[in-house]
Amino acid sequence: MSKFWSPVVGRLSPYVAGEQPRIDNLLKLNTNENPYGPSPKAIGAMQAAIADSLRLYPDPAALALRQAIARLHGVAADEVFVGNGSDEVLAHAFVALLKQDEPLLYPDITYSFYPTYCRLFDIEAEEIPLKDDFTVDPADYRRRCGAIILPNPNAPTGIGLPLSQIEALVAGHPDRPVVLDEAYIDFGGESAIPLTRTYPNLLVIHTLSKSRSLAGLRVGFAIGQRPLIEALERVKDSFNSYPVDRIAQAGATAAIEDRDWFDTTRNKVMESRERVSGVLRQHGFEVLPSQANFVFARHPDHDGAALAKTLRERAILVRHFARPRIADFLRITIGTPAECDRLIAALDEIV
Ligand SMILES: *Cc1c(COP(=O)(O)O)cnc(C)c1O
Repeated sequence: MSKFWSPVVGRLSPYVAGEQPRIDNLLKLNTNENPYGPSPKAIGAMQAAIADSLRLYPDPAALALRQAIARLHGVAADEVFVGNGSDEVLAHAFVALLKQDEPLLYPDITYSFYPTYCRLFDIEAEEIPLKDDFTVDPADYRRRCGAIILPNPNAPTGIGLPLSQIEALVAGHPDRPVVLDEAYIDFGGESAIPLTRTYPNLLVIHTLSKSRSLAGLRVGFAIGQRPLIEALERVKDSFNSYPVDRIAQAGATAAIEDRDWFDTTRNKVMESRERVSGVLRQHGFEVLPSQANFVFARHPDHDGAALAKTLRERAILVRHFARPRIADFLRITIGTPAECDRLIAALDEIV
C-alpha cells in the first residue's frame, strides 16, 4: 500500500500464475503448456517476420490472421476479434459485455482470472456452486443475471458440458451476453462456435496457448456476431491499438493454417491423458473425467498440498489450489509419454 496508488490498486486481488522456477531437470506439469512445441511452419513464418519491417507498426486489425481464423471456423473475418492472449480478449469482454446492471454469473470453482477481472473492473458477480461431482448444472444458471461467463471445459476440473446443454443455457438468456471460454475445447470437446450463427448473445473465446502450443506468443481470439465483436473493438481501440505484434500475427496465422500439426499433437495429448487417467485410477486416485490437456485428481490417503510438495522435491511441478472444495486435488498437465512415465514412476513411490 502506498499513498501514491490510485485507490483501486489496494483493492485488487491479482491473479497468481503457476510458477516458472529454474530447477535442473524440471518437469513442468503446472501451467497446461503443450509439450510438443508449435507448428514448424509457424516457427518458419515467425523467423521470416524478423526483418526490417519490424520498424513498422503491425496491422492494427490483424486482418490476415482474422481471415485465417474465419476460414477455419466458417465465419466472416469481421466476426473474429484477436488479442494479446485470450486473457486480454477476456478482459475486453468483461468491460465490453459482462459489466451490466445485474450480477455476472460464473461457477464457484473456475478460472481464477474471472474474480480478478471483476475486482479490476468493479463488476458485481455471483458464484454458482458446482454440483458435488464438480459438474456445471445449466439449470442453476436459470436466474436473473446481467451476463454469464463459463469455461467449457471448465478449469481446473477439465469437465466439459455437451453442446446441447450449452445451447439451452444460451437460448435461456436471449437478452444477456453469454461468454464461453473454450481454452481447452480442442482436446475432445465440441465447440459452440457454430451456435454463434443462431445466437446473437453468444461470444466464444479461444486461445493459441494450449492446443497450438503458442503460450509464449500471446494470441487469443473471439468469435461472435457483429454487435459483440464491435463492442470488443471499441474497448480495444480505447486501450491499445496494436495488441498483436508482427511476429505474432505471422506465427499465429501459420499455426492456424497447419491443420496436420494441430491434429497430430492434440491427438497425442488426448491419448496420453487417457493413459495417465487410467494409471492414476489404478493407484487409487479419483480422476475427474477430463476433456482438457490436464487431469484433476485427488487421492483419499494423501493431502493435496503435501503431495504437490513431495513431487516438487523430485523436480516435478503440478498445480495445487489452496481453495475450499478442491484443496485435495492436483491439476496435472499432460506431457509427452516420457514425461508422463516420470510422473507415474514418482507417484508409484509416493502413494
Ligand atoms: C490458459 C487459459 C486462458 C488464457 O490463455 P492465454 O491465451 O494464454 O491468455 C484462458 N482461460 C482459461 C480457462 C485458461 O485455462
